[in-house]
Amino acid sequence: MNVPILDKVLIGGEWLPAADGTYQITNPATEEPAGYAPECSVEQVRAAARAARQAFESGPWPSMGGAERGALLHKAAEKFKAEMGNLVDLTIAETGAVKAVAVSQQIAAVAIRLAKYGELATQPADVALPPRELQGPSARGLAAGLVVREPIGVVAGITPFNFPMTNCAGKIGAALACGNTVVIKPAPVDPLGVVELCRIVDSVLPPGVVNFVCGSGSEIGAALTTSPDVDMISFTGSTLVGRKIQENAASRMKRTLMELGGKSANIIFADADPAKALANAMQVWTFHSGQICIAGTRLLIEQSLYADFTKKLTAAGATLKIGDPREPGVVVGPLVSAAQRERVERYIAQGVAEGATLACGGKRPAHLSRGYYVEPTLFTNATNAMHVAREEIFGPVITAIPFRDEDDAVAITNDSDYGLYGYIWTGDSARGLRVARRLRTGTVQINGGPMNPDAPFGGYKQSGVGRDGGQYALNAYSELKYIGWTA
Ligand code: NAP
Ligand code: MG
Repeated sequence: MNVPILDKVLIGGEWLPAADGTYQITNPATEEPAGYAPECSVEQVRAAARAARQAFESGPWPSMGGAERGALLHKAAEKFKAEMGNLVDLTIAETGAVKAVAVSQQIAAVAIRLAKYGELATQPADVALPPRELQGPSARGLAAGLVVREPIGVVAGITPFNFPMTNCAGKIGAALACGNTVVIKPAPVDPLGVVELCRIVDSVLPPGVVNFVCGSGSEIGAALTTSPDVDMISFTGSTLVGRKIQENAASRMKRTLMELGGKSANIIFADADPAKALANAMQVWTFHSGQICIAGTRLLIEQSLYADFTKKLTAAGATLKIGDPREPGVVVGPLVSAAQRERVERYIAQGVAEGATLACGGKRPAHLSRGYYVEPTLFTNATNAMHVAREEIFGPVITAIPFRDEDDAVAITNDSDYGLYGYIWTGDSARGLRVARRLRTGTVQINGGPMNPDAPFGGYKQSGVGRDGGQYALNAYSELKYIGWTA
C-alpha cells in the first residue's frame, strides 16, 4: 500500500514544511508504517493562531453573509465527496476501523456534517425582540431591540483519535458557519486523513480561515490552548485532558466547548425485545472496537433476565470475526495503538482482581500475531463500585450489572461521574419515557434508533460542558449581543 508522507502544515492559506520534519503513523492492524505526519514546532502553532487571528480581524469571512458562507461549506462538502473514495484505504490503515465503519462513519459522515453546517449557516443571525412598553417600578419606557449572533473569533479545534475526520468536520463546520476562523489540531496517532480534509476545505475558502497544525508531542496542543490569539477551545477527548484545558482557558476566560468521556448505561428491562437488545449491546464490541464515547459499556440488566441475557451475549461474543479490518466479514478490528491496548488490558486485569467474572474474551486473539487486538470482553457478576463500571475503558469491554426495578436502574445509572448517553430497552413506552427523564445524561435513546443530526449533543457532569449538534452548536460557537433602542 501507498505510504503517504505528509510533511506540511497549513498556516494562513499556505502549506509550509513542518519545522521538525515528520513522525511515523503506525497501522494498528499490521504494526507497519501507515504514513508519516507533519511534526511542527511550537512557533508554527503560534503562527497558525496568528494567521487565524488575522483572517478574523481583516479577512472577508466574519462579515460575509450566512448564505455566502453556507454556499462555501456546501462546496467543501461536494469537493470532499468527490475525493472521499481515495481516502478509504488511508483511513483504515491509520485508524484500524473495519471497512464498513471507515466508509460510513469515518468518511461519508464528513461530507454530511459539512453540508449540514452549510445549511445551518443560512439561519438568521439577528432576531428582533418584540417592542414592549415597560411601566414597572424598576424599568420604564419602550424596550426594543435585536439579539445578534456574532462569531467568537479564533477557534482551536482539538480532537481525539477515534473519528479523526468526522470530529474535525463537526468543529470546522460549526465554527465556520458562525463566522469564526479555526486552527485544527488532531490527535497525533491518526491525523493523516485530517490533513486531506483541511486541504480540501481550505481550497474553497479565503486564506487563513482554516489552519492546521500537527505533532507527536504534548507541547503542540498546549501551545494552541495557551495562545493569546485563540478565543475559544472546542475540545473533544478525555475528561482528564479536558480538565487541564479548562484550567489553561480560565486565565483569559476563553470560551470552551467540552465533549468528554462517558460510561453510558444500557438498561435492559425484562419486557424488552430480546433480539434487538442483544444486537445493540454487542455494538460495544463491533462499533470501532468500543472506541466510542457514547458506547453503552455499563450493561444494566433486570435481575430476572440477567442470567439468560449474559449467557446469550457470552455465546455471541465468541462468534464475532476479529482481525484485519480490510477483510470482508471482520467486525472487530484492532485498537488504535499499542498504548490503547495496554490501557484496555490494565482495566481487564483490574476487573478480574476486583472479583468480576470474565465471561468471555479478556485476551489477545490467539490467531493474530500482529496488530493491537483485544477480544470482545464481557464482565459479569460486577457491581457499580468496581473500576470497570466507573471508569471509561475505551475498548471492547462490557460490564454487566443486574438491577431490581426501575428505581434501582435509575440509581445505578446516575451513580457515575459521567453523563453522556443512555440507552433503554423496554416494551412499555410510558416506562421508557419515564425512566429517560430521570437519567442525568445528555442523550437517552429508547429502543434503538440512529443519532439525530438535529438534536443537541453533549454531556452532563464530567462528560462535558456545552452542547454541540444541529442548530444548538450555533450557540456554542457564537457570542450573543443585544442591541437595544428606544423611540
Ligand atoms: P485525549 O487523550 O484526551 O486527547 C484528545 C486530544 O487532546 C488529542 O489531540 C491530544 O493530543 C490533545 N491533548 C492532550 N493533552 C493536551 C493538553 N494538555 N492541551 C491541549 N491538547 C491536549 O483523548 P483520546 O485518547 O485521543 O480520545 C479518547 C477520548 O475522547 C475518550 O475519553 C472519549 O470518550 C473522548 N471522546 C469524546 C467524544 C464526545 O463527543 N463526548 C467523542 C469522541 C471521543 P496530544 O496527546 O498530542 O496532546
Ligand atoms: Mg501526544
